[in-house]
Amino acid sequence: MTQYRQPNPCENMNHRRPNAPVPFCPQCGHQVNARLPARECSEAKHAASRRQQTAFCVDCGTRIIDKFLK
Ligand SMILES: [Zn+2]
Ligand SMILES: [Zn+2]
Repeated sequence: MTQYRQPNPCENMNHRRPNAPVPFCPQCGHQVNARLPARECSEAKHAASRRQQTAFCVDCGTRIIDKFLK
Protein backbone atom coordinates (compact mmCIF):
# COMPACT_ATOMS: atom_id res chain seq x y z
CA MET A 1 0.00 0.00 0.00
CA THR A 2 1.28 3.41 -0.91
CA GLN A 3 0.69 6.35 1.35
CA TYR A 4 1.09 9.85 0.05
CA ARG A 5 2.93 12.08 2.49
CA GLN A 6 2.01 15.11 0.44
CA PRO A 7 -1.47 16.52 1.01
CA ASN A 8 -1.91 17.02 -2.74
CA PRO A 9 -0.33 14.45 -5.11
CA CYS A 10 -1.38 16.41 -8.19
CA GLU A 11 1.36 16.48 -10.82
CA ASN A 12 0.09 19.42 -12.80
CA MET A 13 2.97 21.78 -13.59
CA ASN A 14 1.00 24.81 -12.47
CA HIS A 15 1.67 23.83 -8.84
CA ARG A 16 5.42 24.29 -9.35
CA ARG A 17 5.18 27.64 -11.10
CA PRO A 18 5.77 30.74 -8.99
CA ASN A 19 3.39 32.58 -11.31
CA ALA A 20 0.82 30.20 -12.72
CA PRO A 21 -1.15 31.70 -15.64
CA VAL A 22 -4.46 30.52 -14.16
CA PRO A 23 -5.93 30.84 -10.63
CA PHE A 24 -6.95 27.17 -10.32
CA CYS A 25 -5.43 23.84 -11.33
CA PRO A 26 -7.36 22.08 -14.15
CA GLN A 27 -6.51 18.63 -12.71
CA CYS A 28 -7.35 18.94 -9.02
CA GLY A 29 -9.16 22.27 -8.64
CA HIS A 30 -6.76 23.58 -5.98
CA GLN A 31 -5.74 27.20 -6.07
CA VAL A 32 -2.35 27.61 -7.78
CA ASN A 33 -2.12 31.40 -8.00
CA ALA A 34 -3.79 33.39 -5.23
CA ARG A 35 -2.89 36.65 -6.92
CA LEU A 36 -5.27 36.00 -9.78
CA PRO A 37 -8.88 36.72 -8.84
CA ALA A 38 -11.48 34.02 -9.38
CA ARG A 39 -13.49 34.97 -12.42
CA GLU A 40 -17.18 34.68 -12.94
CA CYS A 41 -17.98 31.73 -15.15
CA SER A 42 -20.88 30.76 -17.33
CA GLU A 43 -22.19 27.29 -18.04
CA ALA A 44 -21.16 27.81 -21.67
CA LYS A 45 -17.54 28.26 -20.60
CA HIS A 46 -17.68 25.10 -18.47
CA ALA A 47 -19.23 23.19 -21.39
CA ALA A 48 -16.31 24.29 -23.60
CA SER A 49 -13.81 23.15 -20.95
CA ARG A 50 -15.63 19.84 -20.61
CA ARG A 51 -15.14 19.23 -24.33
CA GLN A 52 -11.40 19.69 -23.80
CA GLN A 53 -11.45 17.01 -21.07
CA THR A 54 -10.63 19.55 -18.37
CA ALA A 55 -11.52 18.14 -14.95
CA PHE A 56 -11.77 21.48 -13.12
CA CYS A 57 -12.46 25.00 -14.31
CA VAL A 58 -9.18 26.99 -14.23
CA ASP A 59 -11.07 30.22 -13.56
CA CYS A 60 -13.31 29.28 -10.63
CA GLY A 61 -12.12 25.81 -9.49
CA THR A 62 -15.50 24.18 -10.04
CA ARG A 63 -15.49 20.45 -10.84
CA ILE A 64 -16.51 19.98 -14.46
CA ILE A 65 -15.94 16.27 -15.11
CA ASP A 66 -16.80 13.60 -12.55
CA LYS A 67 -14.92 10.71 -14.09
CA PHE A 68 -11.62 11.89 -12.56
CA LEU A 69 -13.02 11.14 -9.09
CA LYS A 70 -10.82 8.70 -7.22
ZN1 LIG B 1 -3.47 20.26 -9.24
ZN1 LIG C 1 -15.64 28.21 -13.99
